Amino acid sequence: MILRIERLQVDIPMAEHPDPKAAAAVQELMGGRFGEMSTLMNYTFQSFNFRGKDRLKPFYDLVANIAAEEYGHIEAVAAAINSLLTGSTERPAAGKWSPDSPLAGVSGVGNPHHFLNTGQGAMAVNSLGAPWQGDYIFNTGDVVTDMLHNFFLETGARMGKLRVYEMADNPVARQLCGYLLVRGGVHQTAYAMALQELTGVEVTKMLNIPKISNQDIPEARKFNEQGIHHTLYRFSPTDYKDLDRIWRGKHWEDGGELRVVQGPPEGAPVPALDPEPQVYAPGYDPAELEEIARRLMRSA
Ligand code: MN
Ligand code: MN
Repeated sequence: MILRIERLQVDIPMAEHPDPKAAAAVQELMGGRFGEMSTLMNYTFQSFNFRGKDRLKPFYDLVANIAAEEYGHIEAVAAAINSLLTGSTERPAAGKWSPDSPLAGVSGVGNPHHFLNTGQGAMAVNSLGAPWQGDYIFNTGDVVTDMLHNFFLETGARMGKLRVYEMADNPVARQLCGYLLVRGGVHQTAYAMALQELTGVEVTKMLNIPKISNQDIPEARKFNEQGIHHTLYRFSPTDYKDLDRIWRGKHWEDGGELRVVQGPPEGAPVPALDPEPQVYAPGYDPAELEEIARRLMRSA
């Protein structure tokens, strides 16, 4: 089972400049073929279906534990999209709906469903607005094939993060990409090392793929400087103890000592999103709803 903590793994601030175009691009990291929903669900189902896990425990622990980290990545992507969408349309005067056209300014900008179908919120879709699909999950049951797939999936994910970074210069999008490039790099390396143990092939010699170092990306380098590219977090107080059978030794790129850290990263608070009354989120008169909530709190 999953224990939920009301924190983000990385600080995702509210955008100084709303940016619906960047929000639409960042959707690729949520619901794209190589997005965070894909890594989350691939590793989750592979862990559900893993046979012989008592005998192959380090490999099971690796997949099950990284699955838990990926849940935090979809949270961070959603936070970034919501941050970029906040304030992107005109807010009406307090408490009063008006027959103006507050959404006209975003017609033809970004993904219209961010305004027509949600209250300016993240969706389980890619940058084209196409829904995330269950057949993005690949799980043959053969542990070498599945680890090889996971290495490829993290490689595709790395390409996606690099290109979203290149498409969106908004600092919020780049903070997200920088963090995910570093964490995805850890996962790409971990699956390469798992394949190395299973087959003897030195898969880490193929890295970097794509051939760009995180050291050359300022928003990723700052996380490297904290050493998190050497770190695998254990997302369980009691389980997944054999991660360090695979995640140990020296990092292939800079020779740093690999380490497993007990518990999740410290992370940052989940930002509170301001109401957007023009799309009735959480209602066209938020003050009225707040009064109802206050009554409930008093009677508790
Ligand atoms: Mn991820
Ligand atoms: Mn990953």
